[in-house]
Amino acid sequence: MQHHNTWRKRLQHLLQRAFNFSCLLCYQPSATTVCHWCENDLFFFDNTTYGENLLSCGLVSRHVKHCHYDALSVLGIYTGSLAHLVQKLKFSHSLAAGRILANWFYTKRIQSTKQLPQILLPVPIHPTRLFSRHYNQATVLADDIGTLANISVEQYWAIRIGRKTQHHLNRSDRATNAKSAFSLSTRGLDKRIASSNITCVAIVDDIITTGVTVNHLAQKLKKRYPQLTIYVWAMAFTPPPKSALLNE
Ligand SMILES: [Zn+2]
Repeated sequence: MQHHNTWRKRLQHLLQRAFNFSCLLCYQPSATTVCHWCENDLFFFDNTTYGENLLSCGLVSRHVKHCHYDALSVLGIYTGSLAHLVQKLKFSHSLAAGRILANWFYTKRIQSTKQLPQILLPVPIHPTRLFSRHYNQATVLADDIGTLANISVEQYWAIRIGRKTQHHLNRSDRATNAKSAFSLSTRGLDKRIASSNITCVAIVDDIITTGVTVNHLAQKLKKRYPQLTIYVWAMAFTPPPKSALLNE
């Protein structure tokens, strides 16, 4: 053990000198954005246990609104280190955190999927928030996933017009708020969907809590384009307190 630790320390030291990188989570020297020790500690939904489509997994689908979309894929649970990475992307301008999340999502969740969507649609943030944050975290994620999976991103497909945030609202208020919060921006979308025979799209967001927002956006899409199959892709799911998922 002693020998292993010395060896590990020496390796870390070498990596630090060679790359000057450290792990985003434990701050130990690492050639990768998140070191493999930290990565091994994280919980990811894997396809064999939970299925490719999490709507068929009661532990998730019981708690998210999903009547207007067809499939849900999420990387992990919004706790601990995964939550930390999402927050780094959202609040600390860490594009590296976004890139690693997108990378994991691609390799662990969708690389083996047979039918991939043809367009990625990031959930818009409120214009004033975009002005202060300078970027939409969902667009950052969609861009990175799109590059890996070779899928184009339509950034301006919807606009957020209602109240800025949902997280301070209770479940029923969230539902009412979401209904008036978005409007489809059909300009770009109409042309693309009509001209390139698009049949499948994925709405991309960072966190899914009640699913009300994405469900509402999916409803608007289905109303205008009934032929579409709609997926929802998110980096993290917030399980209700006492969920068995929290013991994973
Ligand atoms: Zn680490």
